[in-house]
Amino acid sequence: MLETSSRLHTFIYAALLTVVLICASIHLSAYVATSLDPNQPSTLIFISVIVSGVLAPPASFLLAVYSHKLINVQEQLHLLATTDPLTGLLNRRAFEVFYDREIARYKRTGQPVALLVLDLDHFKFVNNAHGHAGGDIALRKLAECLRSSIRYGTDEVARWGGEEFTILLTNTGRDTAIRAALRFRRQIETLLIEHDGQTIKLTASFGITVCDEKESLEDAVARADKCLRQAKSHGRNKVVAFPELADKLQSEQAA
Ligand code: GH3
Ligand code: MG
Ligand code: MG
Repeated sequence: MLETSSRLHTFIYAALLTVVLICASIHLSAYVATSLDPNQPSTLIFISVIVSGVLAPPASFLLAVYSHKLINVQEQLHLLATTDPLTGLLNRRAFEVFYDREIARYKRTGQPVALLVLDLDHFKFVNNAHGHAGGDIALRKLAECLRSSIRYGTDEVARWGGEEFTILLTNTGRDTAIRAALRFRRQIETLLIEHDGQTIKLTASFGITVCDEKESLEDAVARADKCLRQAKSHGRNKVVAFPELADKLQSEQAA
């Protein structure tokens, strides 16, 4: 639907542009002809004035209208290509673009970047108990919670797939990332999600790594994912940071 509308707008845009260009070329040729032969300008000038005066203004106006429509369509296409339809968060591809930009900034400024991977615990049971619709509502609520918890404009959160999310924290080292993850973990635990008169409870496990300036997002995610697996095997609802779980952190999580 969007593609058809985009094609139609492009076609109309091109047609109008052609009219404007024809008017401009008639005008130009009349001007050139009259300068070459000043004795016979009247017919050419007359045609030029009629064609340009009658056709060019409405064509230019419509051109402006269709430029606006085209820009809207392009914006919608961009939104579709970069966001996850269920949660409205960035999708994987858009997160990769953001990661590359932030790693480039890291190279320039030396300010570290931390990656968090979080996976909801036993989400299958949420779907089983509350239905797929309940699960979808929970995912949307979680997305809202994460979006409002990160620093606006500098950090980003994306839906990596299913019930797994990635968060990039800029200008953030390991300890700060751990503190942020503990805060997210607490917020997720205390989220109030109502569906069909029932309350849905969520917990999430986290894997954290500080990114290396030379590595791809795929490599950083793989490392954070290993930590996430450790968090799962240590009982879930845990935060594990690369290279290992610090004693301090263990006592903080127990508290
Ligand atoms: P674990 O703690 O080991 O992560 O257990 P889990 O049940 O969360 O993990 P598992 O990978 O076995 O199951 C993930 C579930 O998430 C199964 C899948 O149906 C559900 N899921 C994935 N995407 C969606 C979605 O868009 N909507 C809903 N409602 N459920 C989804
Ligand atoms: Mg899960
Ligand atoms: Mg999963």
